[in-house]
Amino acid sequence: MRGAVIYGPRDVRLEERDDPKIIEPTDAIIRLPVTCICGSDLWPYRGIEPIEVPAPMGHEYVGIVEEVGGAVRTIKPGQFVIGSFFASDNTCEICRAGYQSSCIHRELMGAIGTQAERARVPLADGTLVATPDLPPEDLIPSFLAASDVLGTGWFGAVAAEAGPSSP
Ligand SMILES: [Zn+2]
Repeated sequence: MRGAVIYGPRDVRLEERDDPKIIEPTDAIIRLPVTCICGSDLWPYRGIEPIEVPAPMGHEYVGIVEEVGGAVRTIKPGQFVIGSFFASDNTCEICRAGYQSSCIHRELMGAIGTQAERARVPLADGTLVATPDLPPEDLIPSFLAASDVLGTGWFGAVAAEAGPSSP
């Protein structure tokens, strides 16, 4: 499959990468019709964050589930899913307290790289949210805003105790 790999500041290459495979029984493989670039992708791109070795890019994504591991219970092949930038089990004490990005089993999706045609998503039941139906094709890119921006913004608003009457 093709995927984006960053080699250095302002040096991102579209390369042939290995097709993802189920490694853990809690994994899913998804096809990525669209993906996007996060503000944090720009840190290494601009050279602010060092790049030691060529690294896959991307952690904001939506997709169609192609395959699931034997222990995946709620996510099914064929579903349209929105994924989080950290894979999380959504069952541990920290997840249950509402801090899924600090899950004790968390895995950084950016290390897997979702600026690609396909991706392996660890802890699929906790990481992916399926929509009830397949959205129309022209609306699919809009769902990307729910992958990172919505959750990050929501968390910030709650942490800041923002509300209608707050200054
Ligand atoms: Zn957890």
